[in-house]
Amino acid sequence: TEWGAFGDDGALDDLRTEFDRELDLGSLNPGKQLFEKMIGSLYLGELVRLILLKMTKEGLLFNGKASTALLTKGKIEMKHVSAMEKYKEGLSNTKEILTELNLFPSEEDCVAVQHVCTIVSFRSANLCAAALAAILTRLRENKKLLRMRTTVGIDGGLYKTHPQYAKRLHKVVRRLVPTCDVRFLLSLSGSGKGAAMVTAVARRLAAQRSHIDATLAPFLLSLETLTEVRNKMRTELEYGLKRETQANATVKMLPTYVRGTPDGTEKGKFLALDLGGTNFRVLLVKIKSGRRRSVQMYNKIFAIPLEIMQGTGEELFDHIVQCIADFLEYMGIKGARLPLGFTFSFPCRQASIDKGTLVGWTKGFKATDCEGEDVVDMLREAIRRRNEFDLDIVAVVNDTVGTMMTCGYEDPNCEIGLIAGTGSNVCYMEDMKNIEIVEGNEGKMCINTEWGAFGDNGCIDNIRTKYDKEVDEGSLNPGKQRYEKMTSGMYLGEIVRQILIDLTKQGLLFRGHISESLMKRGIFETKFLSQIESDQLALLQVRRILQQLGLDSTCEDSIIVKEVCGVVSQRAAQLCGAGLAAIVEKKRENRGVERLQITVGVDGTLYKLHPHFSRVLQETVKELAPQCDVTFMLSEDGSGKGAALITAVAKRLHNVGQ
Ligand code: ADP
Ligand code: MG
Repeated sequence: TEWGAFGDDGALDDLRTEFDRELDLGSLNPGKQLFEKMIGSLYLGELVRLILLKMTKEGLLFNGKASTALLTKGKIEMKHVSAMEKYKEGLSNTKEILTELNLFPSEEDCVAVQHVCTIVSFRSANLCAAALAAILTRLRENKKLLRMRTTVGIDGGLYKTHPQYAKRLHKVVRRLVPTCDVRFLLSLSGSGKGAAMVTAVARRLAAQRSHIDATLAPFLLSLETLTEVRNKMRTELEYGLKRETQANATVKMLPTYVRGTPDGTEKGKFLALDLGGTNFRVLLVKIKSGRRRSVQMYNKIFAIPLEIMQGTGEELFDHIVQCIADFLEYMGIKGARLPLGFTFSFPCRQASIDKGTLVGWTKGFKATDCEGEDVVDMLREAIRRRNEFDLDIVAVVNDTVGTMMTCGYEDPNCEIGLIAGTGSNVCYMEDMKNIEIVEGNEGKMCINTEWGAFGDNGCIDNIRTKYDKEVDEGSLNPGKQRYEKMTSGMYLGEIVRQILIDLTKQGLLFRGHISESLMKRGIFETKFLSQIESDQLALLQVRRILQQLGLDSTCEDSIIVKEVCGVVSQRAAQLCGAGLAAIVEKKRENRGVERLQITVGVDGTLYKLHPHFSRVLQETVKELAPQCDVTFMLSEDGSGKGAALITAVAKRLHNVGQ
């Protein structure tokens, strides 16, 4: 800190005495190091001398007779002060020292001089304690602790040799900071050994740092790389839209047969289903149109057990229908044959709004006998099997489309839907004339890009790390959804886990000990990234989170883990932003405008709850699509509401016979 200079701005002027000022004026550096001049051993003897001199001049000591020695600067030193304050011999030492200064002290003079010494050295210890207390308090607050235990390492002659200094200092520190348990540790071999240790620690840390930097370097993407990603995404989007290339495209660009966003005239009661990557929601949505337009929703969330996600298709759809039955029962509407919109967050090839063939499972799903089948048919059959109620399935809707619709209901400028949840995907309104595989050139249609599969042809393998490859190999769909596996909630925690394993193997974490829990796939959930990266979180809390995961970490470990989480989520947000930049740029060119104003509707827990993801994503879009002013709109009610709106639109169009 170089705290000796404390007070050089006048902060200590209230406390400084005439003796302090006199001492300062006679020093080599007047006006400087004012705090040091009140507490340092170089100055205490001189302070005593100045006080004794004044007392003598006032006739309070030595019969008013000063000696040449007493008038000479520097004649009383710290060692004299220490000797005079010695317990037992102190008084005789005092007499001896004063005599050597050619003074003739009486008994009373000696007692008084001893008292002066004590006042000067106690003031030093008190001030030193006060400053130390400020530092200890700061440390405790930094660590967000109510009580802190710590050790203060001390060196220096004053502390070591003065008979009462140490005791006084300890006592006052403890009184000033009762919330700290302070141990004072004398540095026996002085600061030379410390310099050697600092060197050793610095070398160890530097070596560790360079290994960590090397490990994390592949996650830091330059603007150039991100621009390249944006351009490649753009290429793949075109590839998916063109008739000749469509069949082999990795980004499938699936037509949704949704041709417009809601216009506010929609109304009625609808059922909506929302099968995401993690949960299944059933909703009852009541839409009122006209001047007092509003949307009311009632919903229930059901978990999908792992054995159902990865069982047979029949079991999955029976389970879904079971959940619907529970909901209808719960709402007391079992008899009503309501129109239903089915939000289905997996790639479907659609031939109309109510037909969708599952292209392939993604995320955590792997139910058998579903791929290549129509999900609406499968749902209808399951309803028939149960034979308890009937539903009018009007639309099958991708979650991105549902999200876009939900936000489009509030903001007509919303023509893009983005999901950053268990998986990653985007949809947007494309000009019909660009969609070669759908008849007609008029108007627009929403395209579900299924961009999660971006890179499945190897086009972004240059930025995939060995950790991404490990995560991919351990997944349900190796080689597939490569972009999604770098950007979405289902995988980010797993990437972090792979890096932590590697760093531990390199001896850079957890003292090189790979715990059993660290080897468990899925143990490091993406929600922990959010917690660990939260700015409000103290290191100790990071440590606690890691402890709950069975990872016994030091403070240094926690810092490294936080850094790892940071680079993984940052890369995810940047990649996602680069992809989105390609979409908004395409929309700008479609419209043929210099500047585009557009709204993106967003849903997904990663986007909503991660402390930095949304900001980094937005910054990246801004940087990579500078001609687009993009507004991000959170879909507060999820994609279920959107499914109901699409159902309403489809129902309206159906009724007028279109
Ligand atoms: P889905 O995408 O399945 O429809 P969500 O949008 O709710 O559903 O996303 C769920 C995913 O979000 C989880 O699988 C998990 O990976 C991730 N997640 C859950 N909690 C958090 C959190 N606090 N921070 C970031 N991601 C989270
Ligand atoms: Mg969802």
